[in-house]
Amino acid sequence: MISQVAAGVYSYLPLAWRVLKKIENIIRDEMDKAGGQELNLPVLQPLELWQKTGRDHVLGQALFTLTDRRERKLALGSTHEEVITKLVGHNVQSYRDLPLLLYQIQTKFRDEPRPRGGLIRVREFTMKDLYSFDVDEEGLDQSYNKMLQAYRNIYARCGLPTIVVEADSGAIGGKISHEFIVIAETGEDEIIYCSQCDYAANTEKAESIKGTIAGGEPLPAEEVSTPGMATIEEVSGFLKIPNNRTLKAVFYIADGELVFVLIRGDLEANDTKLKNALHCFELRMATESEVIEAGIVAGSASPVGISGIRVVADDSITSGTNFVAGGNKPDTHLRNVNYPRDFKAGIIADIALARAGEGCPKCEGKLQSTHGIEVGHVFKIGTFYSEKLGAFYIDAGGASQPIVMGCYGIGLGRLMAAAVEQNHDDKGIIWPLPIAPYHLYLCPLHREGSKVKEVAENLYAELEAEGLEVLFDDRQESPGVKFNDADLLGIPIRVTISPRTLEKDSVEIKQRSEKEPQLVLLAEAVTKLKELTARGTRSS
Ligand SMILES: [Zn+2]
Repeated sequence: MISQVAAGVYSYLPLAWRVLKKIENIIRDEMDKAGGQELNLPVLQPLELWQKTGRDHVLGQALFTLTDRRERKLALGSTHEEVITKLVGHNVQSYRDLPLLLYQIQTKFRDEPRPRGGLIRVREFTMKDLYSFDVDEEGLDQSYNKMLQAYRNIYARCGLPTIVVEADSGAIGGKISHEFIVIAETGEDEIIYCSQCDYAANTEKAESIKGTIAGGEPLPAEEVSTPGMATIEEVSGFLKIPNNRTLKAVFYIADGELVFVLIRGDLEANDTKLKNALHCFELRMATESEVIEAGIVAGSASPVGISGIRVVADDSITSGTNFVAGGNKPDTHLRNVNYPRDFKAGIIADIALARAGEGCPKCEGKLQSTHGIEVGHVFKIGTFYSEKLGAFYIDAGGASQPIVMGCYGIGLGRLMAAAVEQNHDDKGIIWPLPIAPYHLYLCPLHREGSKVKEVAENLYAELEAEGLEVLFDDRQESPGVKFNDADLLGIPIRVTISPRTLEKDSVEIKQRSEKEPQLVLLAEAVTKLKELTARGTRSS
């Protein structure tokens, strides 16, 4: 179906291309029904546009850039907010010109650091991206809801059950965004959801109830000797206290600057939340030598009395009293550390990773987790791009206002890959009928002197005339080879004609999703196959 050309770069062979075209048609149809207008924007874009929004830095090395023969810098579009905002800014004058829903289905480029999973994370891919332009937030809400419904329709028509989760906005920006997730064990996204209410979020964004820790009235801080104890487990074990009575220090490098991250001992920092809190472009854990070089006592670092370094704390540090923290001296910790009495933090925010078993932020329920593949992402962007790129309109009162934007993306290849992840068995793919490369696999089993060939060719012509899509396996191969290939390719309905079925004036019909075949009279075969195909399209 696909063939790798380079890391994250693929050729699509005829069967996969048919699937992609079907997905594309479903998407186009739903975008048009929702009021979208299709256009086409260039892949090759002046880097200057990206510099105006600062997204050349946000994307960093993920943005493919090149220099032309006149030494002008160009970028290969990874999304099209800049180009389309400029276009709309030029053409929209008044509130009467809005709202607008503009979309394209086109190739995008991203220099992913770790292309993986076949089509899941690639460097060149086809994406449908729609951009909405409205006069205000209320208009944006309407456009956003229209798109949420259109997306639900698309996945339903592709035969792919999805869930909608809250997500981080990442490089696109804006405050509110949602992802459509196909649940799959192999998925690289972790989803946190509540079993009692509809709360669901990507783990990058998910929140949880951290609970309060009964620590009693604040007591005077005191040093305690902890010989050889460095990790939270060692310290809490040695002092015979639970992890949640300790404060953990973790060090990160944010855009080249060493940052002190403080969080309750039973919790872990969430890199995405931390990046958002710090407003930085690049974030990674500091190495041990970077920490030591900065004069910090590794294993015993403390926010108490530290200076010359930014301290970012999770809001869990306010969830209790009398914590144990580092002592900024080897083999020493401090008991009864209390915020804000004993230390300050430059930023206090929710920077913790929500985990299964913790409390739901919306109800009394417990959170659970699962894995999935993101197959769509929608964003309420607001006015970030319109303000940077000068996309304004004149309102009814004659005042100039920035256009309020949303953006909505679906990767087509990824959707196809997710469909395979969700619909297969150990023999191969089981395509949902609406996106299957063909509806029927016509499989004549030849024998010299039999009428199989003639019957198969007549049936093929009849089915084609009825508008059914037939993959005609007229190879001279054994039944075993043909059946294996049929299962592997996953065409929804297999039709076998052999001397044995013809003895009963019949053909054998087997659905890929079912175990047992059935014999159907040749005279009734076309009607039966039309019915099965129509049912497959409807049921999705
Ligand atoms: Zn809940």
